[in-house]
Amino acid sequence: MRLILLLAALFLPAGLAAKEPARTVTVLVGIDGFRADYLARGFTPRLAALAKEGATGPMRPSFPTKTFPNHYALVTGKRPDRNGIVGNSMIDPRRPGVMFSLGNASQALDPFWWSEAEPIWITAERAGLRTATMFWPGSEVAFGGTRPSDWMRFDQNVTNVQRVNTLLDWLRRPAAIRPAFATIYFDTVDTVGHEFGPDSAELNAALAEVDARIGDIVDGAAKLGVRLNLVVVADHGMRATDESRVIQLTDLIDKASYIAVETGPYAAIEPAAGTDDRVAEALLVPHEHMTCTRKEDLPERLHWGKNPRVAAIICIAEAGWTILSGPPAYPVKGGAHGYDNADPEMLAIFIARGPAFARRVELPVFDNVAVAALLRAVLGLPQDADADGKLADVRAALK
Ligand code: AMP
Ligand code: ZN
Ligand code: ZN
Repeated sequence: MRLILLLAALFLPAGLAAKEPARTVTVLVGIDGFRADYLARGFTPRLAALAKEGATGPMRPSFPTKTFPNHYALVTGKRPDRNGIVGNSMIDPRRPGVMFSLGNASQALDPFWWSEAEPIWITAERAGLRTATMFWPGSEVAFGGTRPSDWMRFDQNVTNVQRVNTLLDWLRRPAAIRPAFATIYFDTVDTVGHEFGPDSAELNAALAEVDARIGDIVDGAAKLGVRLNLVVVADHGMRATDESRVIQLTDLIDKASYIAVETGPYAAIEPAAGTDDRVAEALLVPHEHMTCTRKEDLPERLHWGKNPRVAAIICIAEAGWTILSGPPAYPVKGGAHGYDNADPEMLAIFIARGPAFARRVELPVFDNVAVAALLRAVLGLPQDADADGKLADVRAALK
């Protein structure tokens, strides 16, 4: 092979000889809220083809089935309890009176919250691989002073087409500054799922649009001569909700006696100073459509509750129900996620297609923390013995 390249360099016209050899790039695609069974609806021909040709299977999200905890679990191989992103909103006893939330940039961009587990772009950068993130929760934050070589501050107004074009521009670069690993993130399927519900025509249209963008990535990489190892994942699924299935916490307990760190499919409740007994008495009793537990009594299978950032009392709604604390910020309609991760409607899409992956393989349900192990294997990085996800769970996806 070397000899052929050498001969080519000697005898081909200068322009051709100077052409770089094809390079393999691993791209992790996150489609927020792409429930596993959306793939079979017939609106996503490009994803269906990738799934058919490559490795695929339903993926179990980590609890809580929310965006930030699961995006971080996918790239760290650690479940939310151990990756430190225990919710989309959270508190920490070391920062009294402060709340982390998606929309609160002063906290969401503070490395303090993200430093409990190392994301794969950091591992890769430290191993000398160049990385680039076209959005991914946590990728806007330095980890021990390191960041992806290229990264973007999250902005929902950047269109899906613009996101794909940015990724393709990175793949178009000369080898020295081209990423070996990149991420891209699409939020439209989740946004539309919340607004109109998982069974709506609007959701199906969002599926078709994101599918076309996946097609643009595949076709764009092919045109550039880039060999693509594509891993397509979602953070969680989506379940229909409506205003007839609501549990109102303020009917059970006076609002001044607790802080609702999170509400919706599950509620994270922190008693206010001196109200522990009152809150426990009101919540730690049987309820018709939710189960409330002290964090230390949560079922082991959730692997959640040991982190000091998890609030003292956790109430998990029956699938399809919504827990509110007073009037909701948005009307209860459409869809939601955050339920028990054993709920089949929380299952997420997983597809791996490319030279590193097995062909025509269907995996049984596996835990999403295995994705980080798979990416490490593909990138030639050592496995993390301390991770919750094990390569064995997804080894069948590898060639
Ligand atoms: P949720 O459905 O509440 O779990 O979160 C989904 C929302 O998270 C999406 O609609 C995005 O707008 C938002 N989101 C995704 N990535 C980021 C980020 N890096 N920073 C802030 N918000 C984000
Ligand atoms: Zn999400
Ligand atoms: Zn969502």
